[in-house]
Amino acid sequence: MLDSHRSRAHFDKVERLAQQIRELDAEGSSILSLQYKSTQHANTSRSKSYKKSAAKLCFEDFDEILHIDLEACIAIVEPRVTMDKLVQATLLQGLVPLVVPEFKGITVGGAILGEAAESSSHRWGTFGNSCSAFEILCGDGTLLRLAEKQNADLFHALPGSYGSLGTLVLAEVKLTLAKKFVHVRSHFFSNPLKAVSFLQHLVQEKTAPDFLDGMVFSKHSAVIMEGSLQTEKADLPSYSSDSIISDWYYHHVEKNKTSLEAMTLYDYLFRYDRGAFWMGAYLFRLSLLARFIGQGIFKWWDPGKDHFSTEQLKKVNPVPSPNLVERILFYPWLSSQKLWQLFHKAEQWIQERCLIQDFCIPEPYAAKMLEDIMKDPGTFPLWLCPIKGTRFAQIFAPHLLADQANYTHFINIGIYGLPSYAAPIAEITQRLERKTAKCGGRKVLYSRSYYTQEEFWNIYSRPEYTALRQKTRSVGRWHEITEKVLCSNGSF
Ligand SMILES: Cc1cc2nc3c(=O)[nH]c(=O)nc-3n(C[C@H](O)[C@H](O)[C@H](O)COP(=O)(O)OP(=O)(O)OC[C@H]3O[C@@H](n4cnc5c(N)ncnc54)[C@H](O)[C@@H]3O)c2cc1C
Repeated sequence: MLDSHRSRAHFDKVERLAQQIRELDAEGSSILSLQYKSTQHANTSRSKSYKKSAAKLCFEDFDEILHIDLEACIAIVEPRVTMDKLVQATLLQGLVPLVVPEFKGITVGGAILGEAAESSSHRWGTFGNSCSAFEILCGDGTLLRLAEKQNADLFHALPGSYGSLGTLVLAEVKLTLAKKFVHVRSHFFSNPLKAVSFLQHLVQEKTAPDFLDGMVFSKHSAVIMEGSLQTEKADLPSYSSDSIISDWYYHHVEKNKTSLEAMTLYDYLFRYDRGAFWMGAYLFRLSLLARFIGQGIFKWWDPGKDHFSTEQLKKVNPVPSPNLVERILFYPWLSSQKLWQLFHKAEQWIQERCLIQDFCIPEPYAAKMLEDIMKDPGTFPLWLCPIKGTRFAQIFAPHLLADQANYTHFINIGIYGLPSYAAPIAEITQRLERKTAKCGGRKVLYSRSYYTQEEFWNIYSRPEYTALRQKTRSVGRWHEITEKVLCSNGSF
C-alpha cells in the first residue's frame, strides 16, 4: 500500500500496529483498545473505564498529515490529527475541510467514529460524510480500504461505529476552497419556535448559506446565524473568540445582538472552543466550583451525595457569563481541551449532574421537541444545528433518513448544562431518548446513553452490524458498541 502519498513512516506505523495485533492474538489476548497521548483529552462525557481490562495498542503517533492533494481537494491524514492542525494546514493551501467540528482538539478519528457535525452540516452531513475513503486494521491485523466502490457496506457503516468495526489508520478528507473571512448575519427571535421555522426555511433554499446554526438563550430569546465565506472583511464590526478580552461567543451574540459582523474563517470555525460552548462558565459560580473541586476532583465529600436542589439550579439557569476580570485571569485554562482535562478528573460528578447530549430530530418534529426541551429539562442555552440526512446504510448515523421520509434534514438540538430542576440525570435523559425515538430521531452516541440493550437494538440494525463485525474479524477483538456507549453495561 506504499505510494507517493503515504510516507514510509506511515507505512511502518501501520505495519507495527498490525504486528502488535497479530502478536497479542497469538498470546491469546482478546479485547484490544487504543492508547493515546495523556495530553489529548476526549471531547466526551463518557468514561473510558471499559478499557481497563483490555490490552493496549500504542496509537499516539498516528498524528501526521500525509498529503494535501490540491487538485483532488483531499487531505490524506492519520486519525489522531486534531481539527486545529488539519485546519491550519489546509488553510495554508487555501482550502478547508467541508465540515469542521467546533472544538480544536477533536481528532479526525474521533470525528468520524463519533459522527461529529457543525454549521456546514446542512450541506454535507457529518464529518464522516465528508470523507472519500478510510483505511482500517481488522481484528486479525489485515489492512482494508473502504470507499464508495470498495467495501461500500463498511465505508458507510464505519462513521458512528465508535471503533467497534476496526481501527482507523487513515482517512481521506474532502476539502473546499477557503476564503479569509466569514460574514455572519444573525436573526433574533423572541419566540424560539419561529427560529426553528426560519431554520427549516433556510435549509430548503436553493442558495442556502455556507454555514447555518442557532442558539436558544431562553423561552423568549433565540438566534439563527447564517455564515457566508468572503474574501474581504468589508466595513463590518469584527469578533475573535481568541482575544483575551472578548466575551465568549454565546455571550457576545446574546449581549451585542449584532446583525452583521465579520470573523476570520479560523476564528469562525472554532468560535465555540473557548469555554466549550458555555460549559466553562459554570466554574465561575463559587457554589458550583466548590462542589466541583471538593466532591468531584478531590472527593472530600462523597461525590454521589449532595445533588443540587431545584432552588440552586434555578440560580444557574441560564448559565452565567464570566466577567472581564475572570476571563483574563483564567484565560489559559478555558480552551475546550483544558476544560475536558479538568472535567475528566471529575467524570462521575459531572455525569451525575450535567446533561451533555445531542438529539438529531427530523425537521418536521424539531419545533415540538424544542418546545418540550425548553420546559423539561429547561436547560439554557441550547444549540441548534441542521444536518443533511443520509440515505446510505449508515447503521449508527444519527441523521439516517427513513425509507419513506418526506423531509431531507434533521435539526440537532444540543443540551450542554445543568437541568433547571432537581432530578436524576438518568431519568431526564431517558425521557428525552424516548421522545427522540418516538419522532424517528436519534441521539448522537458520544455522550451517555441509558437505553436497555433491547431498546438500543430496536433503533439500530443488529443483523447488519453483526455481519460487519464478522467480516472485519472484530468479534472478541474490539469492544462491541453497546459496551462503549450504554450506561447499563456498568462501564460508567
Ligand atoms: C459538550 C460537548 C459538546 C459537543 N458538541 C458537539 C457538537 O456540537 N457537534 C459535534 O459534532 N460533536 C459534538 N460533540 C461530540 C464530539 O464531536 C465527539 O465526542 C467526538 O467523537 C470527539 O472526538 P475525540 O477526538 O475527542 O474522540 P475520542 O473520544 O478520542 O473518540 C471517539 C470514539 O471514536 C473511537 N476512535 C477514535 N479514533 C479511532 C480510531 N483511529 N480507530 C478506531 N476508533 C477510534 C474512540 O475509541 C471513541 O469510541 C460534543 C461533545 C461534548 C462533550
